[in-house]
Amino acid sequence: MEKHELVVIGGGPAGLAAATTAANAGIECLLIDEQANPGGQIYRAVGTIPEQRATLLGPDYNYGRKLVDQFNQSSASYLPSTTLWNLNSQLEIGILRDGKASLISADRIIIATGAMERPVPFPGWTLPGVMSAGAGQILLKSSGLVPAQGVVLAGVGPLLLLLAWQYLHAGVKIHAILDMSPAGNIWRALPHLPGALLAHHYILKGLRYQLQLKLAGVKFFNGVTEFHAVGGDALEAVEFTHRGGRQRIDSQLLLSHFGVIPDSHLSRCAGCDHSWDANQLCWRPVADKWDNSSVDGIAIVGDGSGIGGAVAARHAGRIAGFEAARALGYISEQERNEAARNDQRWMRDDLRVRPFLEARFHPPAELLSAPPDETVVCRCEEINAGAIRTAIHAGHKDANQVKFLTRCGMGPCQGRQCDNAVSQIVARELGDKKMISGGYRIRPPIRPLTIEQLAALNEGADPK
Ligand SMILES: Cc1cc2nc3c(=O)[nH]c(=O)nc-3n(C[C@H](O)[C@H](O)[C@H](O)COP(=O)(O)OP(=O)(O)OC[C@H]3O[C@@H](n4cnc5c(N)ncnc54)[C@H](O)[C@@H]3O)c2cc1C
Repeated sequence: MEKHELVVIGGGPAGLAAATTAANAGIECLLIDEQANPGGQIYRAVGTIPEQRATLLGPDYNYGRKLVDQFNQSSASYLPSTTLWNLNSQLEIGILRDGKASLISADRIIIATGAMERPVPFPGWTLPGVMSAGAGQILLKSSGLVPAQGVVLAGVGPLLLLLAWQYLHAGVKIHAILDMSPAGNIWRALPHLPGALLAHHYILKGLRYQLQLKLAGVKFFNGVTEFHAVGGDALEAVEFTHRGGRQRIDSQLLLSHFGVIPDSHLSRCAGCDHSWDANQLCWRPVADKWDNSSVDGIAIVGDGSGIGGAVAARHAGRIAGFEAARALGYISEQERNEAARNDQRWMRDDLRVRPFLEARFHPPAELLSAPPDETVVCRCEEINAGAIRTAIHAGHKDANQVKFLTRCGMGPCQGRQCDNAVSQIVARELGDKKMISGGYRIRPPIRPLTIEQLAALNEGADPK
């Protein structure tokens, strides 16, 4: 089996910074990513995008070029368009590239798989014409595609505002922005404001986006509840309650967003310990101050270890690179401490805004754990919330038992889309917060793989 000194999984700011730092320290390092180009979510396609589109996406986006250039100049090898379908505690990695599955291994692994949008089942979310805001942004970044007939943006979180601002500059008609964060969030966030002001550029940026959108005439509805996407064969409108009255906005496209959560499937597949984060409402890996997980030789950095944003991810990546150099014997503990000191300080400063953002954009509990019975929760196996509640009240007391009985979470996405929702429905139905002590047990393959690919498993793959 082909073996590497260090394998970094994920080419976003965390993975790029980790691989560059490690390679510059002399480590033989391979970076793997399923995207065709380095950059991750925030800097998707940054090296290949036309200038006009890059300008439209804003200065934060363009910072990615620097990171990608530094990575390209390092000695790290790179396997793009390569998907990981397995990782185990012996540091063996299953990859899929050009339709061929193979196994490689490493002395050390850094998982930097980032975040995914929080999947939230609401009435009508499976209708054609309903997509996530992240999907809309991916189409904009990677292909320059924007909605031709206008769009409604709805949900909770700063990405909604950013996408609205980017669409505004791309000339897209925004019918309305519906904010579903509970009114009380403002009060819960207020005590965190002094800390957040130490990273005030984030707050100013948000206020500037809002002001520009309002000046352009975009309608904002705050405190939206009882939100439904409605239509026959496809989306026709959204309906919601606002200030006690029922509203309807006609639209053929709805982009929804409910914040981001760590993409923890790979780290859970590898057997790393995770704990429930009640502020971010998700599982995050248990790690020490150097981001080492509970599995020897595996570190987890960036949004995959807890949502901190792109700047914190970049610093965490560099710190993990120094820690890899220490663990593999390239530098001493003291050299690592000195090398990482600035990044640790900058990361701490940058993270000061997080408690404010987490409180301000905390999604309503109702939305996450109480979808109506007829709402589909597991899209792959088409299991609705009613079937999940029936299973719970028949005595199945955790997400895994519900999975065995109903098959929810057993489809091609392997539970990535319904894992959080099912666990929160279980917790609500049983009135026991402790039930959120672990989601589905994650087993390989975490990404779809055919029997033919598995049977033809060979060893090794040629990095570019
Ligand atoms: C859809 C989406 C859009 C976002 N857009 C923005 C934005 O515009 N601005 C902003 O400030 N923040 C944005 N964020 C948040 C932003 O992604 C993070 O703060 C930041 O990118 C985290 O960096 P990272 O390196 O930890 O992870 P990421 O940038 O997410 O990089 C993770 C990488 O891992 C790869 N990967 C994951 N799983 C596998 C696998 N099994 N096999 C192979 N490769 C894998 C992915 O392809 C990805 O390239 C977005 C988040 C999401 C989910």
